[in-house]
Amino acid sequence: MHNSYLRVEGVEKRFKQHTALKNVSFDIRKNEFVCLLGPSGCGKTTLLRIIAGLEEPDAGRIFAGGKDITALPPAKRNFGIVFQSYALFPNLTALQNIEFGLRARKYEKKRIKEKAMEALALVELLHVKDKYPAQLSGGMQQRVSLARAIALEPDFLLLDEPLSALDAKVREKLRNEIRSVQEKLGITTIMVTHDQEEALTMADRIFVMDQAEIKQAGTPQEIYHKPNQPFVADFIGSMNFLNESMETAIRPEHVVVEEGKGTAAVIEAIEFKGPVYRVKVRMTEAASKFYNQQIIIDLSAYAAKEINLERGNVISISLPESRLLDFKEQVVS
Ligand code: ATP
Repeated sequence: MHNSYLRVEGVEKRFKQHTALKNVSFDIRKNEFVCLLGPSGCGKTTLLRIIAGLEEPDAGRIFAGGKDITALPPAKRNFGIVFQSYALFPNLTALQNIEFGLRARKYEKKRIKEKAMEALALVELLHVKDKYPAQLSGGMQQRVSLARAIALEPDFLLLDEPLSALDAKVREKLRNEIRSVQEKLGITTIMVTHDQEEALTMADRIFVMDQAEIKQAGTPQEIYHKPNQPFVADFIGSMNFLNESMETAIRPEHVVVEEGKGTAAVIEAIEFKGPVYRVKVRMTEAASKFYNQQIIIDLSAYAAKEINLERGNVISISLPESRLLDFKEQVVS
């Protein structure tokens, strides 16, 4: 890639008999926010640790800003890291925690405090600078960790499941905050997550991983609308697979329900999910090539008003050709 800021080239990692990473290669541009997304055990954390220098690859190279950093120890890589577990010193205040990291950089004492205060201001925590970690909520502790990482003005920010220990509301708020700090500073960021919604809302690009490999790399829209294989299609969002070989699929929100058009299906279950109704139907028309197939449909409240939503009722559904995903013709990477 022309303007690669971080390049991972042919990285391999084994732990005894277990392959954690298989020939992983990619480029990341300056200022990009990339999420490594995948199920537990797929190798996300191992990849992040190799980039940080905390783990040695068995093969392959890492380049940062064009320089080969494969052999550099973590301290020489200028990466800021935030872990799931905050990793703050309990006996130091929020401000002191940030100052601690800066001391290793040999700034003047006054400058250290200034920089720590600036970082705290950026995460909007100046008012709790003298509090100890135990006096702060989980979300606040994680913001202190973030401030500590960015105070060092790293070239890269590496986030390892930073939000997964927090409850849903705080998590959502922090998503926006992390993204806004990242954009303000223009800092190239890689975040590990197994939460697809987090990846879809935060990332410029998502690398979907499974079984030690990157299966697809693309924008959230590409990953959602043009998954390159059944695994990606199934892992992100909900998907109806229309035959046993999983070659044809359609998203629940793309199924059309229109009286008198399409084929007959009987409603088997209705679930109210707030913005949509999730309706499970079974195709009942013997002539249909999807006869007896169960299909999930997401209907907006508006669309739901048009039909008689009741278990046992027969409705007409159609699966628009333009919305069908066909994995037969795609080259699986
Ligand atoms: P999770 O979301 O559960 O953290 P992950 O995608 O981050 O999963 P990794 O932590 O990278 O996965 O682990 C990938 C595989 O390598 C797993 O099967 C794990 O058990 C194994 N593994 C990771 N670190 C070690 C190690 N130090 N020794 C042995 N096996 C390891």
